[in-house]
Amino acid sequence: MFAHSPVRGELVEMSDAWQQVQALRTYPAAVSTMLGEMLAAAALLSANLKFNGSIILQIHGDGPVQLLVVECDALLRVRATAKLQADSVVPDNASLQQLVNQHGEGRFAITLDPADKLPGQQAYQGIVSLDGDSVATVIENYMMRSEQLDTRLWLAADETVSRGLLLQKLPDEGGTVGGTAGGTTAGTDPDTDTDAWNRAVTLASTVREDELLDTDIMTLLKRLYWEETVRVFEPRHPSFHCGCSREKVGNMLKLLGKEEVDSALADLGELEIDCDFCGQHYAFDSVDCMQLFTADAISDAVQLPGSQQH
Ligand SMILES: [Zn+2]
Repeated sequence: MFAHSPVRGELVEMSDAWQQVQALRTYPAAVSTMLGEMLAAAALLSANLKFNGSIILQIHGDGPVQLLVVECDALLRVRATAKLQADSVVPDNASLQQLVNQHGEGRFAITLDPADKLPGQQAYQGIVSLDGDSVATVIENYMMRSEQLDTRLWLAADETVSRGLLLQKLPDEGGTVGGTAGGTTAGTDPDTDTDAWNRAVTLASTVREDELLDTDIMTLLKRLYWEETVRVFEPRHPSFHCGCSREKVGNMLKLLGKEEVDSALADLGELEIDCDFCGQHYAFDSVDCMQLFTADAISDAVQLPGSQQH
């Protein structure tokens, strides 16, 4: 928090978690950079929105990259994956537009999936077009349109580290600044420093990408804002975690339906599914699949009439 001003910021860096994401497969350099930047952005937004659940950033591309998915839960546990078109050749310096928006049909979606969903409750999803030439710009546009929050992001990733800086201008109209920071009220504070936002952004804009990659976040914070009074909170620690399970894969098969599953079993003998995020292997033979649908049929049968209320 910047003292006496409606500005807050966050810094993130991930090395182990980011390297675990990349351990599963090798992506072309431009795709890897984009995925790493999205990973930093997801952690920043998760802390920023203080949402009790998972934040899922997805890009549905119409270029060589078909899908990029990054998830971060309330405990800052992250996972990420990218899917490329078969035989696609991606130049090292490919731009965001070249990667995912060649025909203007790429889409960026942010999903807020509550941790303690009530039965029938849907996750919230906002979708925006892919305007801009960086992940940071796309998210800045989203935050302005969906959350009406003036937010700036600086993101960078290479094969070892993913780093990001977020600055946000809090609403002026007497909104409480950071409930945990002592409940100062921005609009009524006579000492409010109205130029702080411009200063904070101008200084952050001097950071070059290579500087962001080479500098640990506390050094960066001091280097940028040594003249400002900044209140620094206890750091939290992101980690890699995949929440996939045999039960979830089973539920996915149930969604496909018995007919589809039986037909795949007839072709393959056994269904083998690898998790795109962590590589975990799941196998379902005909007995496993039969149990999936039998268990379903039994629970349907015992459901009393009128119990399917929403
Ligand atoms: Zn997994």
